[in-house]
Amino acid sequence: MSQYRAVRGMVDILPDSTPQWQRVEGAAKHILDGYGYREIRLPIIESTPLFTRSIGVVTDIVEKEMYTFDDRNGDSLSLRPEGTAGCVRAAVQHNLISSQQRLWYTGPMFRYERPQKGRQRQFNQLGVEFFGVATPDVDAELLLLCRALWRELGVETALTLEINSIGHVDARAAYRSALVDYLAQRKDQLDEDSQRRLASNPLRILDTKNTDTQRLLDDAPQMLDYLDDESRQEFALLCQMLEAAGLHYVVNQRLVRGLDYYNKTVFEWTTDALGAQGTVCGGGRYDGLVSEFGGRDTPAAGFAIGLERLVLLLDALGQTPDESPDIYVVTADQAALLHALPRVEALRQALPAMTIQMHLGGGSFKSQFRRADKSGARFALVYGETETAAQSVTVKPLRGEGEQLTCADDELVARLCESATEN
Ligand code: ATP
Ligand code: MG
Repeated sequence: MSQYRAVRGMVDILPDSTPQWQRVEGAAKHILDGYGYREIRLPIIESTPLFTRSIGVVTDIVEKEMYTFDDRNGDSLSLRPEGTAGCVRAAVQHNLISSQQRLWYTGPMFRYERPQKGRQRQFNQLGVEFFGVATPDVDAELLLLCRALWRELGVETALTLEINSIGHVDARAAYRSALVDYLAQRKDQLDEDSQRRLASNPLRILDTKNTDTQRLLDDAPQMLDYLDDESRQEFALLCQMLEAAGLHYVVNQRLVRGLDYYNKTVFEWTTDALGAQGTVCGGGRYDGLVSEFGGRDTPAAGFAIGLERLVLLLDALGQTPDESPDIYVVTADQAALLHALPRVEALRQALPAMTIQMHLGGGSFKSQFRRADKSGARFALVYGETETAAQSVTVKPLRGEGEQLTCADDELVARLCESATEN
């Protein structure tokens, strides 16, 4: 084994897995195009303050998960832990902040976390952002877009949508102090992490995994009771829109999200199929971030899908894309190979949707057929000595579809199209 291994938490995506990734990426692009979102490609490295200011200094990400370093100039830079900050930075810098601006991006993110299934130090997100409209129809569109993607991938029934409103910043401050009052009186019953968060980031206690703390929260003040009227109305309207569109949701009053920049609507799509790392997608509104980054005060909303978790979910549901070639070409000898090469090239041009794999390196027919069979191909194309001399080719079905046939070279495309559609 090589003395070099991938760095802990950094994962190679191997050729056996890439078809699944390409399927996800292809479906996402297709759906996003259909809703009128445009792709933006962003740097992986940004200045550190971009993240500390937007994500928040007392969040897990900034406190302990960022890859931060000084470059040779002494400037503090960070590998991006998420995409929204960079996207907003770019949108402000290039004057892309306008009404109805729909953007998406994908790529690696970096967080120094404990690696486990569905949790890596380099992972991939697909992010979607909408700028310039404050009404909840935007939130609804983002959620419908997610559903369209789940549908396209066949995972809709495995995912549950949880939504909440965390209100306007003032409402949240009022709720925060009510929550702190309640929990401070019961501080000794809190788990260690929550005790620490009580001072730094009390809202995060709401999504604790500790069951004792969860029980304590059952009687804690509820966020919805503290919501400002505007947030309350907008949340009700969002619920109405989701119902009109037949999108089932669960209101989870403990849903807060781990980043400071959110306000009003927040949401997560979760699944039971992946154990503890069950959140596949998270997002919400972040109306203050554009002005925080020096842009004109502009409402915005977005979400990010964790692509590793989505791929794991597809695998868990047994949704594996078929990677087999359509056709496997075997040749008797070098003369047959020379005969076959230009014809196979012409076939690739004539049938661009088909995967045509050529056996290379020679070998006996027997061993070539073994390979052909193992490849999972539907048909073998056989250029034997007889066929080559007669300017013909044999089409041998490998998956029990119809009869073997031999045809003239120039009839091949037509015969293949017939065989492929007959069965
Ligand atoms: P979690 O609670 O699982 O740590 P998060 O709230 O930190 O998630 P977000 O910042 O909202 O995650 O990122 C959006 C999505 O990106 C998550 O829902 C998840 O699917 C994915 N994600 C986040 N961190 C990781 C990671 N370390 N490895 C793989 N996927 C991740
Ligand atoms: Mg996290």
